[in-house]
Amino acid sequence: MSVPTRENVLDTLRQNQTPQVLIVGGGINGIGLYRELALQGIEVVLVERNDFCSGASTALSRMIHGGLRYMENGEFQLVKESLHERNNLLKNAPHYVAPLPTIVPIFSYSSGIWGAIRRFLRLSDKPTRRGAFIVKMGLTLYDLFTKSDQVMPKHIFRNKANTFKGWPAFHPDVKCSATYYDAWITYPERLGLEMINDVGQTNPNAIALNYMNVEGAEGKTVQVTDALTQQSISITPDIIVNATGAWVDFTNGALSASPDNKKTDIVGGTKGSHLVIRNDDLLAATGGQMVYYENQEGRICILFPYFGNVLVGSTDLKLDDPEGNKCEDFEREYILESLKFVFPKIEIAASEILYSFSGVRPLPQSDSTVTGKISRDHYCKVVSKAEGFETPVLCMIGGKWTTFRAFGEQVADQILDMLELKRNVSTKDLPIGGGRDFPRSKIGCDEWVNGLSVRSGLKAMRVKSLVERYGTIAERIIDFMQTGDDAPLASLASYSKREIEYIILNEHIVTLSDILCRRTSIAISGDVSLTVINEILEILASLKQWTKDQKQAELDNVLYRLSHFHNLTEDVLRQRGIT
Ligand SMILES: Cc1cc2nc3c(=O)[nH]c(=O)nc-3n(C[C@H](O)[C@H](O)[C@H](O)COP(=O)(O)OP(=O)(O)OC[C@H]3O[C@@H](n4cnc5c(N)ncnc54)[C@H](O)[C@@H]3O)c2cc1C
Repeated sequence: MSVPTRENVLDTLRQNQTPQVLIVGGGINGIGLYRELALQGIEVVLVERNDFCSGASTALSRMIHGGLRYMENGEFQLVKESLHERNNLLKNAPHYVAPLPTIVPIFSYSSGIWGAIRRFLRLSDKPTRRGAFIVKMGLTLYDLFTKSDQVMPKHIFRNKANTFKGWPAFHPDVKCSATYYDAWITYPERLGLEMINDVGQTNPNAIALNYMNVEGAEGKTVQVTDALTQQSISITPDIIVNATGAWVDFTNGALSASPDNKKTDIVGGTKGSHLVIRNDDLLAATGGQMVYYENQEGRICILFPYFGNVLVGSTDLKLDDPEGNKCEDFEREYILESLKFVFPKIEIAASEILYSFSGVRPLPQSDSTVTGKISRDHYCKVVSKAEGFETPVLCMIGGKWTTFRAFGEQVADQILDMLELKRNVSTKDLPIGGGRDFPRSKIGCDEWVNGLSVRSGLKAMRVKSLVERYGTIAERIIDFMQTGDDAPLASLASYSKREIEYIILNEHIVTLSDILCRRTSIAISGDVSLTVINEILEILASLKQWTKDQKQAELDNVLYRLSHFHNLTEDVLRQRGIT
């Protein structure tokens, strides 16, 4: 497979400025829809103003789940749909999505029953403690929802003695616990990118471009501006899809050429932040499971092992403007305080916080004062002539990462109806990227890794890590690595020069942050340092033939982004390079 260059794709777009569908927003929902439409043979263009999966779709808790908590809000249909989508992803993206045993520490047997009834009847918004009875009810329903499609073990309960045998660091007031199964995702942003690259192989009339901003519209024509050159391209589609998540109302403002900043008032986002912590006691305390617990306010928080560290989250705060948000100091303190509620004796030093990230959940507008009560479901709202739009605009609202396929399928069916076309491909059983032909069993995977190791001469450990990163695409990457001079990076030996070159040439790389934060786990796993940045920048600059000034500008850009959005100052990055 050869992926066309950005310039080639831009040329193709200039030659066909009248696609059937223009999707604005390359988060997971925009990408999911793009795949759906492209597979039906539709001429579709997807534009994203930053990198793909760089908004909410990079800020998730990395759970692929049914959403146990949403049952309290009566969102049974959503939970059911999410559980089926979780199972689909376990099957179609086995290289990144894996089962996640999840322990729920329980502090009482009966509390929460009255509160749950009141919340269910919508007489109260407030979260209350969830005792064993309530948890049992929830988990029984959770198991029931997948009865016809049961791929993971059913939940179990443990008494106090058995709970403390496995999780001795739990708060001494814990009375018992339950373990149920959900799933987690290692590389969500890569899965989004792999869907885009899959489409490239099947539909030459489908175009996806990152760093392209929709800035305005005149009549039926939308102006899309290249963030690199500031050049505009006019696109006149039959249908527009606004998949800009927390920015939906702002994008409608741009699309309607409205004098107001925001044209509609559909989305009301809530912000969520996470920390990545390297602390051996905390890692051991998880017992290798996700811990799903209530904090001091009765809000659900989570933590689980992630690339050898612990991912801890999250906050849930209303905000008006999704732009430029980051994990604030008070959010960090809140998350650490919540942690104390379940593991009171574990101390976390500031230096053990390797990374933080934040994003905005694109939830529907709501008057609820309790953010946890706002629906997590998704729907599509069409705005058209009556609201001042010349071309119908389908707005994708809400949706979890887990449900992107179902949401995309539903909106695609709506578009097919509008275009009077029939669906000819279903994505339900369609593998994604490196999930294609991925061995189904551990033995099968080990045999495949060993075979690849023998064929390539690479150590089995190295092949295994490539397979974990890229699934079956690892074979193609190994072939590429062997057709040039390769060597481990001096600053980070677990990656090699040719591996990074493959990513740059094949994975829509525009900036250094794309590599560090979304195509690899280098930033989130705490491996990023000034020396790593400089070494990868050299490779990128050489392939892009950047001048010295361009290189410096890119260095400034990545340092700003890591500092502003992830609390990684240049000093911290320099220290990491030394130790
Ligand atoms: C803290 C947090 C934790 C979460 N945890 C989970 C979880 O564990 N599991 C789960 O299933 N879900 C989770 N979610 C929900 C899930 O991540 C989101 O619902 C989903 O990613 C939304 O995707 P999206 O494509 O609609 O929005 P986004 O990913 O935000 O994409 C919208 C895109 O539109 C682009 N854009 C905006 N304006 C323009 C413009 N003018 N021109 C071009 N592009 C534009 C933006 O740059 C952005 O990339 C979580 C969300 C958050 C924030």
